[in-house]
Parts: sequence; structure tokens; C-alpha cells
Amino acid sequence: MSASLLYAEVGLPIPLEGRFTYEVPEELVPYLIVGSRVIVPFGKGRRVGIVFAIHAVKPVGFEVKRIVSLPDDRPLVRSEHVRFWAWLSDYYMCTEGEVLKAALPANLLQMETADKPYWYALRTQRIYWSKYLQENPLALNERLLKLEKAKKQLALLRGFMDLAGTPGVGCCNRMDLLSLPHANASLLKALIEKGFLREESEELPSGTLSVDDSLLAVLTPEQETALTEIREVFKHKESCLLHGYTASGKTELYMHLIMKCIQSGRNALFLVPEIALTKQLAQRLERVFGACLRVYHSDVSLSERLRLWRELSKGDQAYVVLGARSSIFLPFPHLGLVVVDEEHDSSYKQQDPAPRYNARNAVMVLASFFKAKVLLGTATPSIEAYSNCLMKKSGLVELFSRHMGYGLPEVRVINTANLRKQKRMKSLFSPELLQVSQAAIDQGEQVLFFQNRRGYAPMVTCAVCGWVPRCTNCDVSMTYHKAKDHLRCHYCGYEIPLPDRCPVCAAEATRWGGYGTERIEEDVQKLFPDARIVRMDTDTVQKKDASQRLLSRFEQGDSDILIGTQMVTKGLDFQNVRVVGVLNADLMLNFPDFRAHERAFQMLSQVAGRSGRREKSGLVLLQTTQPDHPVLKQVLQHNYKAFFSEEVQLRQLFSYPPYTRIIYVYVRHLDASKARALALRFAQQASSYFGAQMLGPDQAPIGRLNQWYQQFMMFKIPVEESFMRAKKRLMRIRTLCLEDRTGKNARIHFDVDPV
Ligand code: ADP
Ligand code: ZN
Ligand code: ZN
Repeated sequence: MSASLLYAEVGLPIPLEGRFTYEVPEELVPYLIVGSRVIVPFGKGRRVGIVFAIHAVKPVGFEVKRIVSLPDDRPLVRSEHVRFWAWLSDYYMCTEGEVLKAALPANLLQMETADKPYWYALRTQRIYWSKYLQENPLALNERLLKLEKAKKQLALLRGFMDLAGTPGVGCCNRMDLLSLPHANASLLKALIEKGFLREESEELPSGTLSVDDSLLAVLTPEQETALTEIREVFKHKESCLLHGYTASGKTELYMHLIMKCIQSGRNALFLVPEIALTKQLAQRLERVFGACLRVYHSDVSLSERLRLWRELSKGDQAYVVLGARSSIFLPFPHLGLVVVDEEHDSSYKQQDPAPRYNARNAVMVLASFFKAKVLLGTATPSIEAYSNCLMKKSGLVELFSRHMGYGLPEVRVINTANLRKQKRMKSLFSPELLQVSQAAIDQGEQVLFFQNRRGYAPMVTCAVCGWVPRCTNCDVSMTYHKAKDHLRCHYCGYEIPLPDRCPVCAAEATRWGGYGTERIEEDVQKLFPDARIVRMDTDTVQKKDASQRLLSRFEQGDSDILIGTQMVTKGLDFQNVRVVGVLNADLMLNFPDFRAHERAFQMLSQVAGRSGRREKSGLVLLQTTQPDHPVLKQVLQHNYKAFFSEEVQLRQLFSYPPYTRIIYVYVRHLDASKARALALRFAQQASSYFGAQMLGPDQAPIGRLNQWYQQFMMFKIPVEESFMRAKKRLMRIRTLCLEDRTGKNARIHFDVDPV
């Protein structure tokens, strides 16, 4: 047989566009497949890459180099994952290298370990006391004398003692030991050679774990019906939306489905928006799935990450992985079911760095490669997910009865415009809110004051009638720019001077900047001098487990009043909270973003749906200057369908999703005027093709980020038009702009389906 040569397209973890083609040496042909790790020559050195495709077409125009070696005896991941990564790079307009960096544990792509099979890089190495010291710990003291001169080795040994505990017994992870300050591999090697320590790789148990379905709750008739409906949907469709109130038992249904999936030997992925705030959920799953449960997110230690990679790659045991968005990159060998809980949550979108993916959407593609089913669950569906149901792309199952004893709270709307006119507001607090809060505290119950974090946006509103200036082109609120004293739409750049008087009620226009939680805390302290107060927002909680700690202290009754941002709606078990006060619902309704109403409906419904989950029903007070705002009515009536149909009409009128797909183009430069000039150049090139589908360029909502000035443009591509063609066009314009003299030292990136 005349050997026709084969070529491999290799993805490398570098930010350059495109793949790199190499010749496959004949002796590797039988072993090399899509998903294999390879070592290839690159520039003057070598690199580790992943095979994305294999073909027989000789590339022309350059000298093709050969693959150097194949370190592993089996592919790193299945071809489904490679296909998925390629799709992510295409769809989200970033390089495959950027996807690889996000997807793979770093040490799999480093040359230092690349000569060993990936099992080696993935295995967990543990360090123990040497056999001798294990049997004879007292000998340690006399042996230590030998180390007197070797100060660094001695220090490492002390570090080991801190990690492992009592001399003779205990052990630690090699990686944890080596991450101590001043530790390194040669010091460790010396301690092993001198008979102090011993190294062993941890063996994984072979797949013998089983699950027990008698641990599942007995479903109520309504839940049973919903479960049957979901199974029915899955016979014909790949995905299903479960629309059900908070506490209707959605999680119980997920667990029933996951049980079946694991029993059939396939893995299940349970996605949640923010893992640090889901300790209760993890405990609940652990009670049922025990040793089959794995928890995964970007904060788990590298050694745990590698362990999970190895467990999944081994492939002889089905797991349920409870994870944040990054778990869509795990190497599941067989995926049977994906649950996306709180599917509407914007934390599923990665903002920075690339790939700027939305895990909720991307996981559907991954699941389709595995023929796995996807269940989206929420009390407040995203507009996108719900319209997919109406278009029959996805099934819809509803569950509106709440589990026994759970009543919906009473929700009242308070008109702060009237109260302000009568001078009865005390800072942000209405008399009614003060009164019911004080009464609750007097009875030893708890109170939550809720202020949207995004309230810092510099907006203008009439304090008397609640009028808010809106852009005539974009249907979003306009932002106040102090320097020029004018109002501006940050989508299209439309500007108007700040009016002297409110055009509706003729009151003198009042500026209203953000009213942050810090200032609220001061006010609350004055208004409730005897109450114990905690504040929780991004300033007070830099660390995620710190927020969990603050919340659980509040839950245990350590304080009377919690002042929080939207963050608390996700993590808090509201059982003991009697009163929830939404201080200013207007901030949400008027946020300058086309999703403002959607977010407001979701957030307010979540708050309203969570308080008073037990015997006593809760009380929610919504303070607003717009008591007749349709969104507030829809929240009060728990009427999602009314909200949806009104919202999609506006979306259609102003060409927003689901009628268009949106791409943001960001132009960044360290020099403000150069960023502006390049953005204008980009826009000029794009306008002939995109016309009115392009808005901007304008300063991005975050005008300067880590020293980089940011300009941005918005492109709205109608769903009937080819999204791929629009993307290709934008990529070409980017290349032109960056190649030009004006593009020197600039960066241009895309954000597809931004949230
Ligand atoms: P959701 O996920 O819709 O918010 P959950 O599944 O968390 O609802 O249910 C709310 C509460 O009711 C949980 O404490 C759950 O254990 C309990 N619950 C729901 N359904 C049942 C059931 N069939 N049997 C026993 N407890 C249930
Ligand atoms: Zn007014
Ligand atoms: Zn506009």
C-alpha cells in the first residue's frame, strides 16, 4: 500500500488565530486520533497541543513540520469534547487556544510534564512519613540532627508536619506541600532520599459505587405528573424547561431524573449559577447520591480538579457533578443528563477573559453531541428560554403548587413619590416599612433590606413623579454624564441636555446618583439604634466563602437586619425573615439596559417568592415612585405570562433578542483618544455592511478597565439573517483595523450574546 501521508490539525494554548497543521509520522498513524495530546515543534521550541482533526490534504504554501511524539496511550478526551471546543471558539469568536486554556488543567499543556502520560500529570501524589518513621516515630528527633545544616529541607519538613499532623501518621498532597513558600521538588526529593518521607500515588477505587433510589422523597401527585411530563418531552425533544415556583419541588424532580441517569451508567451534570452559595444543595444531594457526588467550580484546588479529571476519564463509574459554569469543560465520557438550575441567572455568562461563553446555552450543544437531555429549571424563565418553548424548540412543563406548608408571601407596593411630596420619607424609608420592620425586630424576627447593586449607575429620575429619560432609539434609560452635564444613551450615543424641569410634572428635575448600601447602613443604624445590622455586598465580601459565612451567621439569628444586594437572593434561606424591604424598585426598572425589565421581574419575583417559607407567611414591601408600572403588577400577580407577552412586544419593536442576536465589539487601548479613533475606524468599515444594525461606537459602560480605555459598538443581527456571515465580516474588519498603523497596541474583542 502506498502510504499517503496524514496531517493533523493541532490546537495550541496560545492566543493566535487558527490551528496548526503537522504531518503525522507513519509509526504514530495507528494511535493518533482526535482528542490525542501531541508534542509538536513550534517556533524554536516545542509545544503541547491537542489534535482537532486528521485528514490527508497536504497544506500548501509552507513547509509542514512533523509531530514529535504522542505522550499518552489513549486520547485525552473524546472527540465530542474537541468538537465542542471548536464550536465554542467559532460561536463566541475567540481562538481555540483560548478555549483550550479554559478547558484543560494547566499542567496537561506544559512541556515540563509532557513526556509522561497524562495519567501521570493527573494523578494525585501523596506524601507520607517513611515506613521507618511510621513504625518508629520517636526516631524522628535524633534524625532531625542530620538536617541541622540543611535549613531549607528542615523548613520543608516542618511544613509537612503542619500539613500532615502527628509525626509518624498523617499525609498530605504533594501539590499542597510544594505550594508552600520556598518549597521545591528537589528539596522534597532530598527528604525522600534521606529516609524522612515517602511518595505514593493514590489509587482510585474501581467503579463500584452505587446509588439507592429509596433515599428519594416520595413525590406529591402534582410533582409526579410533572415528572411524567418531563419524561414524555424527552422522548421527542432534547431539552425541557421546568417552570415552577420556588419551593415547588423542582430540586426533588431533578434528583429523580439524576438517579435514573446514574443507574443507567451515565454521568449527570447539575449546573448552578454560583456554587459558593449552594452549600445546602450540596448537602441535600450528598444525602441521596453519597459517594457519587462531586462538587466542581473554579475555586476547587488543583489537586481536586485533577482527581476529578482522572475519575471521569477512567470511565467506569457514573457521577453526578454539581458545578458552576466551568464544569462544562470536564471530560465526561458519557453524559446522560444536564440540569441547569436557575437558568435565567446571568452568572452563567463568563464576562472576562475569553471564551465569553454562556454555559446555559453552550451546554445544550455539548449535550446534543452526547445525545444527552437538558432540563432547564427556574421560577422566572429567561425570555430566550421561554420563547424557545413557544417555538417548540424545547418542551415546557409547569409546576405551580408549592410543597405543603409553603405560602406565598404578601406583597405590597408603596408609592414613595406621594410620600416624598408629603415629606414623610425618612431617607429611603417609608413610614410603613419602618413600622413593620420595627415590629418584626421587637418580636425577635429578622428583616432584609434589599438594594440593587447596579443602583450605582448614574441615572436621573424625577423624585416627584418618577419620570425617567429614555432614549428614543433604544428604549433604554439614559445615563447622566456629570462632566458635560447631559444625558446620553450608552447604546447609540444619542445625547440631550439635562432638562431643568420634569417634562411630565414640571417639578424641578432632581439628580439621583446611586445610593449605595454603605450609606444605607448609616441610615439604618440611626433609624434602628438597637438593632444588630450586617451589610453584604461586593465591598464587604471579597471572598465567596466570606459571604457564605455572613449569610449563615444571619440565618442563625446573629443579627436582626441584613442589608444586601441581589447576591443575597441567591444564597439565603429566607425562612426566618419576616419582612423584606425593596428600598427602591425603580433602580431596577430603569437600569440602562434592554434587559432591565426582565432582570427586575426576575429579581423581585425571587425576593417575593422566597420570604416566609415556613409556617408564618412573609411580608414584602416594594418601594417605588411608579406603583403602576406593569412589571410591578406582574410581580404582584405572579403573572409570568403577562410579563412575557408584554416584554417580547417591546423586544420586537426595538429589535432585541429573541428577534435579533447581539454582538458587542470592544476596542481597548491604553490611550483614550487612540481607542476612540480606532473604534470610529471600525465603525466606518462596518457601517456600509451593517447600516442601522450597528449602534455606537461609544464609551463602554465600564469606560476604563484595568487601565484600558474601552469603546464599544453593538450589532443587532436579525435571527433570519446568517449569524455566521455577520461574524466573519466582523472578524475581517478586526483584522484590517489591527493591521493598520492606528491599530498598534490596541485590542479588539467580541462578546456574543452578551448579558
Ligand atoms: P425548588 O427546587 O422548586 O425550590 P425544593 O425541591 O427545594 O423546591 O422543595 C422545597 C422544600 O420542600 C424542600 O425542603 C424539599 O425537601 C421539600 N419537598 C419538596 N417536595 C417534597 C416531597 N415530595 N416530599 C418531601 N419534601 C419535599
Ligand atoms: Zn416629574
Ligand atoms: Zn440609544
